[in-house]
Amino acid sequence: MDYKKILEEIAIEIEPLRNVGRQADYIPALAKVNPDRFGICITTVSGETIGLGDIDEPFSIQSVTKVFSLSMSLSFLGENLWRRVGKEPSGAAFNSLIQLELDRGIPRNPFINAGAIVLADILMSRLENPEEDYLSFIRQLAGDDSIVYDREVARSEREKGYINAAIANMLKYYGNLDNDIEAVLRFYFLQCSVEMSCRQLSRAFLPFADRASEFSFGNVRLSSSQVKRINAIMQTCGFYNDAGEYSYLVGLPGKSGVGGGIGAVYPQCYAVAAWSPRLNDKGNSVMGMKALELLTTYTNESIF
Ligand code: GLN
Repeated sequence: MDYKKILEEIAIEIEPLRNVGRQADYIPALAKVNPDRFGICITTVSGETIGLGDIDEPFSIQSVTKVFSLSMSLSFLGENLWRRVGKEPSGAAFNSLIQLELDRGIPRNPFINAGAIVLADILMSRLENPEEDYLSFIRQLAGDDSIVYDREVARSEREKGYINAAIANMLKYYGNLDNDIEAVLRFYFLQCSVEMSCRQLSRAFLPFADRASEFSFGNVRLSSSQVKRINAIMQTCGFYNDAGEYSYLVGLPGKSGVGGGIGAVYPQCYAVAAWSPRLNDKGNSVMGMKALELLTTYTNESIF
């Protein structure tokens, strides 16, 4: 498969979408990002990298981080994790408060904000040095020690994070947060603030595609069955209330973030990361989603 040529065709085809959508501005620091960016990068299981566009520019991974916090939490708690968070698609906005109330404090899945705030709480209880250990896991996944938190983004999100604070308070009320609310929120925002480029993100997603290799990074170990199940949750929940549309159009397990990034995998073959800050009304990258749709259409490669 000539991925390079396919990516070049895709870049031409998505050009008319360049001004469609709006970047997230409810996190003030993200409003400063140049929205006219696009990059896509594939890393294959054989170690080849094929990229196009702004693939070395770091961006805020935001909710893509939830794949990493889920991996750690599942590794530490195993099936007991599901006592504290569900694994059903939410069909609701990623920051829905009403759904959490109806579900009496058990978030619908780990990839909505409420679920990931519970994961942050779990990791705070389990990790000796949560901030360092979390970043170190991501660096190991990507094989790149230059990955950092953007503390300015995290601080800016804390300042305006009214809904996430409400979610954390509701979780606490229902007995689903062990640690101090403020400390959990700060750790959650820090996890979201990790900065990565498309190249780094595609590398970090590769272990989720490459099930022939052992998933073992420091003290985070997952069986190939657990990796398969993380893929399943990406497929069903990775795009919130756009998950059906994403499945229909793209057909690769993936996770999006409001920074405009998407990480996805074509199991056994490659991981791919796309980035473009302008979002649709569900909070997913317009150009990123279209690029992945065209990738699976032109290659005829998807999980379906
Ligand atoms: N940090 C963001 C928030 O909590 C992440 C949301 C997202 O990327 N969908 O609102």
